[in-house]
Amino acid sequence: MIILRSCRVFGLLVSHYSHGLGSSGPQSSRLYASWTEEKKRPYWKTLRRLILGAPSPPYKKVVQTGDPVLRLQTQLVPQDRISHPDTQVILKRMVHILRSGDCMGISAPQLGVPLRIIALELREGMCKLPSELMAEREIHPFPLKIFINPTMRILDSRKLHFHENCTSLHGFSALVPRCHSVEISGLNEKGDPTSWKAHGWAARAAQHEMDHLDGVLYIDKMFPRTFVNLRWQEVND
Ligand SMILES: [Zn+2]
Repeated sequence: MIILRSCRVFGLLVSHYSHGLGSSGPQSSRLYASWTEEKKRPYWKTLRRLILGAPSPPYKKVVQTGDPVLRLQTQLVPQDRISHPDTQVILKRMVHILRSGDCMGISAPQLGVPLRIIALELREGMCKLPSELMAEREIHPFPLKIFINPTMRILDSRKLHFHENCTSLHGFSALVPRCHSVEISGLNEKGDPTSWKAHGWAARAAQHEMDHLDGVLYIDKMFPRTFVNLRWQEVND
């Protein structure tokens, strides 16, 4: 899922590592243990799990990096299964998550479903960046687009370099090169053929979601030294 956020200035990026990974002694042992210990589930969550059982895909929350589903090569949806209630539930859940957060794209694997489905939408209310940034990034609202078994054709291979992020890597961002324009073709929620020519920021979102279908995350394509925790300044406060 790609997120549209207000512009942040990534000026001075200084990392403070007070605990070296190579250090030894009781303090580093405790630190290591805190990273590796499984977090205890609160009582009410334990109770809910006992009553309702473990959640199953499509999840109501976006899976996070580390979940193997994000690295799978996804499967085509058989055309005669598009109208099946199970497929429609996945589509509805994707649209719900798309609209309940400040994101403009989502893919089925992000809900734990390794199928080739993406959904994108940029609502007017999400375009509240300064006008010069909107123009620079070519951000324009567009209505809901659902693509089942999509393919992508590059229309303009000029590379644009902007920061992007993903709800499956919550709280991070990096500079990622993306082609200026692409065309996405596939089937819509009714199983009818559909295509869309996307430019600028919409094209970035489309390429990001298409990558998810091949188990690719933006961190595989980013400029590594631009990778930032969006809250690094808060941590220092
Ligand atoms: Zn993503």
